[in-house]
Amino acid sequence: SIVVTGATGHLGRHVVEQLLEKVPADQVTAVVRTPEKVADLAERGVKIATADYNTPETFDGLFAAGDKVLLISGNEFDKGRVGQHQVVINAAKAADVALLAYTSAPGTLTAALADDHRGTEKALLESGLPYALLRNGWYHENYTENLAPVLQYNAVTHAAGEGRVSSASRADYAAAAVAVLTGEGHENQTYELGGDVAWNFTEYAAELSRQTGKEIANNAVSVEAFAGILTGAGLPEPLAATLAGVDASVEKGELVVDSGDLSRLTGRPTTPLADAIAAALKG
Ligand code: NDP
Repeated sequence: SIVVTGATGHLGRHVVEQLLEKVPADQVTAVVRTPEKVADLAERGVKIATADYNTPETFDGLFAAGDKVLLISGNEFDKGRVGQHQVVINAAKAADVALLAYTSAPGTLTAALADDHRGTEKALLESGLPYALLRNGWYHENYTENLAPVLQYNAVTHAAGEGRVSSASRADYAAAAVAVLTGEGHENQTYELGGDVAWNFTEYAAELSRQTGKEIANNAVSVEAFAGILTGAGLPEPLAATLAGVDASVEKGELVVDSGDLSRLTGRPTTPLADAIAAALKG
């Protein structure tokens, strides 16, 4: 089987949909915490397994020898994600799966956000399992799904200076994962995945202006000021600090991925940022 954790999430949904275009539904297993969320997939013949990274025994017997597994990193930042992911790695090891692919972060990223990914990569390598590291760069959607304040204030506020981001759509990263899960020769490979085009916030604001017909300003502030703006908008302080830290990394160029791995794995150019903006503005 091809087994996908985090299948209820944004990325996981894309992965399962794209897998169904390539393999019969009964060869796909979606691992979820809440089966009700994937009733539609069950109806289409996808196997559903219920498990939680916080409860190791829920993974007992879930994997079988020869499975190809995609571990999609969790989003519970306060629950020790390395330990959570280790639970999946241990179960995969016990079952002797053929491949464990993990959605990581770019090798260049030094922001605190990358720590859990580095820790998980280490655990995966130490397991001795055949692995594939999908070091996903940033999603377009991190920006385009958060346009409400931008359109309210007619400004893109950030702390990234003139730094560039080679983002791509979630669907692009999902296509790379599907290529690895359904293809051959991806054992023990590390892929640095990013969009074909690296943009900066001046260009982002200009494209938003063009598509909305409004004058949207590029409002670059300091990392400290940005963290303050985020907490002022109601974000918990640790999360605000983490996000501001990402912008500091952007300014240093740490989210520019120019390996070409993403378009090479998917066999097509990555989705332009302008397309993601257009989709978001359409609602
Ligand atoms: P989502 O937040 O949409 O999905 C997260 C998924 O993880 C959900 O399916 C969620 O299940 C599952 N999950 C969380 N905790 C557990 C747990 N304890 N046990 C089992 N499953 C769990 O994120 P995306 O799909 O957009 O992105 C996938 C991952 O990539 C994120 O979780 C995060 O680690 C990372 N990420 C990457 C970004 C990038 O730009 N590269 C940006 C943002 C996140 P449930 O539906 O039950 O909550």
